[in-house]
Amino acid sequence: MITLRTFAEVRAAVSGSVSLVPTMGFLHEGHLSLISAGSEVADTTVVSLFVNPTQFGDDVDLDAYPRNEERDAALARNAGADILFAPSAEEVYPEGKRVTVQVGGVGDAMEGRFRHGHFEGVATVVAKLFAGIDPDHAFFGRKDAQQLAVVRTMRSGLRFAVRIHGMPTIRELDGLALSSRNARLTPEVRGDAISLSRALFAAADAIEDGIDDAAQIRAIAQSVIEDVPGVELEYIEVADAHSAAPIDAIVGDSFVAIAARVGGVRLIDNVAVEAETMTVDRGTVLDHRSILYEEAPCF
Ligand code: AMP
Repeated sequence: MITLRTFAEVRAAVSGSVSLVPTMGFLHEGHLSLISAGSEVADTTVVSLFVNPTQFGDDVDLDAYPRNEERDAALARNAGADILFAPSAEEVYPEGKRVTVQVGGVGDAMEGRFRHGHFEGVATVVAKLFAGIDPDHAFFGRKDAQQLAVVRTMRSGLRFAVRIHGMPTIRELDGLALSSRNARLTPEVRGDAISLSRALFAAADAIEDGIDDAAQIRAIAQSVIEDVPGVELEYIEVADAHSAAPIDAIVGDSFVAIAARVGGVRLIDNVAVEAETMTVDRGTVLDHRSILYEEAPCF
């Protein structure tokens, strides 16, 4: 695996079909599942590593984002990456952030309401990666269900030919969805964080028992969270999988999403509902402690 810093270098280095896995680094098993899947379908797998400033609302959050390129390079290589693309901000924004991509509607609710400008930053950076690398496949986690809807809408709207793959959420031993931000949870609040997945799993049980009314589903999830004083809930929403618009009842494929702050760390999670069978995909739980907590994972 090689580490490259410019789009031109990446275009010159790839051969055959290309998978792209965009990340902000501090890799965990969720990212690694995307990289492995990418390396199975293409000749060259490119993992991008870029903490994108335009998708952060405040500089405190941006500065606190965990970073370790050496660690990420070893993990990405081990998972099957051929190229780690770690560009500078100047390489990604040579025009000084004057070019932006907006995806109306899909990004308005949930994350859009609590993180103004976030999806414009996401859509812009992913469009730049698609334009600059021209991948055949791109891999995203369903953990960020609304982001996936934004990226799919951006792809079709801008006529990128890349095929988008949405991959299942990988969870820690206790059910907490893996996120690089989990590394910032202190032992004191770690237990509180589990209530997010517990709330979603309670909602999932209700859906599988035949409840399709969104207000009822939200209330069931909320009752789990309410009892945990350390959790500041931002939203619980039931939304259409494609438009990411909040819905009143489950009629098509959809997801139940939650966002909360736990000990100052903002966490999001969701479970995906397949409407035809009324079954819920809760993701995959690891059977070991996550590499996220190893400073220097062994390979
Ligand atoms: P990030 O580095 O947080 O921007 O995430 C990079 C990609 O990994 C995104 O497509 C995320 O949706 C995906 N991802 C993050 N966490 C998980 C997870 N726990 N399971 C699966 N995919 C994930």
